[in-house]
Amino acid sequence: MLKIENLHTYYGNIHALKGIDLEVKEGEIVSLIGSNGAGKSTLLSTITGVAHAKSGSITFKSNNITNIPTYHIANTGISISPEGREVFPALTVEENLRLGAYIVKDKKKIEEGYERVYKLFPRLQERYKQTAGTLSGGEQQMLAIGRALMSNPQLLLLDEPSLGLAPNIVLLIFDLIRSINEQGITILLIEQNANMALSVSNRAYVLENGTVSMSGDAKQIANDPRVKKAYLGQA
Ligand code: ATP
Repeated sequence: MLKIENLHTYYGNIHALKGIDLEVKEGEIVSLIGSNGAGKSTLLSTITGVAHAKSGSITFKSNNITNIPTYHIANTGISISPEGREVFPALTVEENLRLGAYIVKDKKKIEEGYERVYKLFPRLQERYKQTAGTLSGGEQQMLAIGRALMSNPQLLLLDEPSLGLAPNIVLLIFDLIRSINEQGITILLIEQNANMALSVSNRAYVLENGTVSMSGDAKQIANDPRVKKAYLGQA
């Protein structure tokens, strides 16, 4: 579904992605793990056209989307829930969700979007008139994911969904990620919480210093002694 080949991205002189090869197949949850500065966010930014790919290619459903203008990305069927959530605090839950459907013209489709999101996140339905700034961190995360689902994507990019959340809320968010996937949405997940990410994923890539240092079945990655030591806090 998504295929990335020999991708190179720079910020000025900083060579942030140094020849990334990565594939996400339809129906999968694939996680990308790695420490701060490894290049995880840069990879998502390059997929969504926010950062410029100097060379290499990004293909989505057989279309070359390398360096696509960011405002076109949602039209391809890709949606992103960004790091730090970035909900609009002064807008209500419903208004925030509506923004995620900006490419959808058909009113019926927008209503279906709300229904889809509220079914997954009943908490958001209960609070639909509340301003986003008054929600808890976990609810804001649900809202950011819900907003990304409003365009009815085939591929959902999740950037650090567990960041700053209490452990019980992290569990809830990962359950929801599973449910979203069970509804047929393919997921590329970026996480510092490698334990949780690997537990819900089919496959995983480990990013180090702008390159893929390891990839494979998520269970196999979770059992790798180097991964255990570096990312899972186990000796
Ligand atoms: P984090 O979890 O901290 O976001 P990451 O794995 O997502 O880490 P990136 O943010 O993609 O890593 O950073 C990759 C490299 O690119 C780092 O060396 C970082 O300092 C650099 N970098 C990231 N964004 C910028 C930017 N806007 N300008 C310059 N350098 C940047």
